[in-house]
Amino acid sequence: MKSTIRLVWILIVVAMLPASSRAQEGEKKGEKGFRAGAAASNITPRLGRKIVGNFTQPPATHVHDELQVRCLVLDDGATRLAFAICDSVGIDRSVFDAAKRLVQSETGIPIDNQLMAATHTHSGVSWNGKDDGDPEYAGFLSRRIADGIRRAINNLEPAELAIGRAEEAGQVFNRRWFLTPETKLLSPFGEIDKVKMNPGVGNQALLKPAGPTDPEISFLAFRALDGRHLALLANYSLHYVGGVPTGEISADYFAVFANLMEEKLNAKDKARPFVGIMTNGTSGDVNNINFRQAGPRVKPYEKMNQVATLVADRVYSALQKASFKSNIKLGAQWKEIILQARQPDAERVQWAKRTLAKPDDAPKDHPLERFYAQRALNLHDGPSQAAIALQAFRIGEVGITAIPFEVFAEIGLELKKQSPIQPCFNISLANGSGGYLPTPSQHELGGYETWMGTNKVEKEASVKITNTLLDLLNRLNSK
Ligand SMILES: [Zn+2]
Repeated sequence: MKSTIRLVWILIVVAMLPASSRAQEGEKKGEKGFRAGAAASNITPRLGRKIVGNFTQPPATHVHDELQVRCLVLDDGATRLAFAICDSVGIDRSVFDAAKRLVQSETGIPIDNQLMAATHTHSGVSWNGKDDGDPEYAGFLSRRIADGIRRAINNLEPAELAIGRAEEAGQVFNRRWFLTPETKLLSPFGEIDKVKMNPGVGNQALLKPAGPTDPEISFLAFRALDGRHLALLANYSLHYVGGVPTGEISADYFAVFANLMEEKLNAKDKARPFVGIMTNGTSGDVNNINFRQAGPRVKPYEKMNQVATLVADRVYSALQKASFKSNIKLGAQWKEIILQARQPDAERVQWAKRTLAKPDDAPKDHPLERFYAQRALNLHDGPSQAAIALQAFRIGEVGITAIPFEVFAEIGLELKKQSPIQPCFNISLANGSGGYLPTPSQHELGGYETWMGTNKVEKEASVKITNTLLDLLNRLNSK
């Protein structure tokens, strides 16, 4: 009897060995050479939670595809970096900060070396720091992000990196337009805008877009020394695609791209999972709608598949020409800056109070006047300043910046042009979610993204953020 028990114990211990030795292998620090590890954790909320991304927020009644946090950990023997990209429309800084503290205390990766961002799927949920009926989701989310990073650490192994770029100009459209002079564009505050967001496909009044698009697709491909693909992190400046029926949760084209890369790289069914990641570039004013010409009618989810297929094809063919290198050095820089919060003046506060006091059935000067009156009062009652976390990373030859806003394309193009580290790309909605980030000259034009409440920080914010990020990139470059 005793020997049977001992045998059972031996069997249990032997069965446990691969798991624990994997964790130990992943944990090894100070090991020479470049290593990479990746993992994805499910962050799908319960049904009934509100789907955000539009003015109406229907409760979730179905999950089309699970939401994930896709994690990547890199180690060069001296520096360890962690990236966690969440299928979410935007995540409050408090949730990311809680996740970062968990990661730091449980793994030792410094907070400054962690980048966490949302993809901006509009058929997901967000966490805006307020209790919207599901207070547990914030805690669940930070826990799952931290677990994903721990799992990626467990999967660390010697690796090589290939970097590359491609272009897909046919799927990005600037959504802010100048219209013919007779078109009167009224803001919810009763001011005259010079441009209109989403002016309508085939609108006869279209003149020209108010800003550029960034057609670049940047990518980092990580491969084990035996040739197995471990992870691929890409970046494209497209808001999202959509085409999701009401009430359905979906990670949008970001996840379709990730799955397609797994297929194309023949990376399925491996003991260590391949993790594809699509990050959101600078797409605050860029979407997938061709306003000049209506496309054919498509079924739900069809368009996101088309876009993801095109983008994945571009990345795959660029990857065939890229070369893998193993001597990769890593770096991270972090700085917090204080921005003034946008606040209504006394006149606008009075307007907001008057507007909200109107009976529900009273005639409206603008369909969204109540909504923006409330937003203006929220800013009035809120903090007068915002602490903004900015980051820059170096992964081998590549520079990456992280910005906690929905960043206009021209800001990203400027950073790419001026970066001392080339190539360079930008990840938006990172380390927080602070609304839209237009440039001062786009503020002059007005339009949805500049309205007080959709935009929450001072009008000079993009200049301060760009200068700080270039400073961080310079610091990385001089090391
Ligand atoms: Zn958006």
